[in-house]
Amino acid sequence: MNDFSDKIRNWYRQNQRDLPWRNTSNPFKIWLSEIILQQTRVDQGLQYYTKFIRRFNHVKELAEASEDEVLTMWQGLGYYSRGRNLRKAAIQVMEEFNGEFPKDSKELKKLKGIGDYSAAAIASFSNNEKIAVVDGNVYRVLARIFGIDTPIDTSLGKKKFNELANLLISSRFPAEHNQAIMEFGALNCTPKKPLCTTCIFNSSCEALNNNLVQQLPVKRRKNPKKIRYFHFHLILKNQKILLEKRSENGIWANMYQLPLLEFDQPSPSRFKLLHETKHILSHQDLFCSFYLVRDQFTSNGIWVSLSDLNKYALPVVINNFLTQYLNKH
Ligand code: SF4
Repeated sequence: MNDFSDKIRNWYRQNQRDLPWRNTSNPFKIWLSEIILQQTRVDQGLQYYTKFIRRFNHVKELAEASEDEVLTMWQGLGYYSRGRNLRKAAIQVMEEFNGEFPKDSKELKKLKGIGDYSAAAIASFSNNEKIAVVDGNVYRVLARIFGIDTPIDTSLGKKKFNELANLLISSRFPAEHNQAIMEFGALNCTPKKPLCTTCIFNSSCEALNNNLVQQLPVKRRKNPKKIRYFHFHLILKNQKILLEKRSENGIWANMYQLPLLEFDQPSPSRFKLLHETKHILSHQDLFCSFYLVRDQFTSNGIWVSLSDLNKYALPVVINNFLTQYLNKH
């Protein structure tokens, strides 16, 4: 089993990308990078990581920031609950851990927004704790090399892969082992076009030898996506715009939006249509229409000066529309 770790760490030393969060053992910085990078491409995550590190040098500064500020900085990354949980976890660190960011995986899991994966990543990268990270890259690499077809999104699959990952991890170099297996999945054993011909595992890889590379890992069939129809209303008066705050539940919680009417099927409107777009989220497809309203419209919104608009966290689909519209008019 140690052969596996030696081999993949050796590959890592020769092929790793130089990323800023790899040059630190500061758990605060590693935590920021891990939360930002979930469901996000590295090049995009890098920009946000740099922005957050510049603004928040210490967990205390993040705990003291307003939710609106954090969400505005998060704008464009999606999955906004991550941004909200970031600030809540920072407050927890100040209140429950005396401002000292925890390094132990069990303690880390007490923080808002930190699950098994993030706790393992932060604990191993900051403190060399021997605990395996199991993310999408790790599932793919292990499923293919060992030819495992248990669906990865079932509790049995999670247990099986977690046990195998913890069996394979190096006792002496757990942090490097975890970095190596994730990097190998990101650069070599990629989802669509893995580099099998030159791969260090190609003689023993079960998936390659049995022609199953594209079939592994296996996922249980997904539930059908929910489809929603959003009518957003652009209402402008004296260089001010009417915005509403969304509720604290559901998508875009606590963010701001143009006054909204929602339907469960395509519906006509009496207002002038300005723009239509489809916005795809992981579990929902949103058909968004933007209308110009010049007459009466009932809303509990707030009037925001156009020059202050950038202080309000808006979902990216609304922000893109407004940027284009306001540039032209
Ligand atoms: S041989 Fe191909 S499928 Fe197997 S580990 Fe290497 S890149 Fe992945």
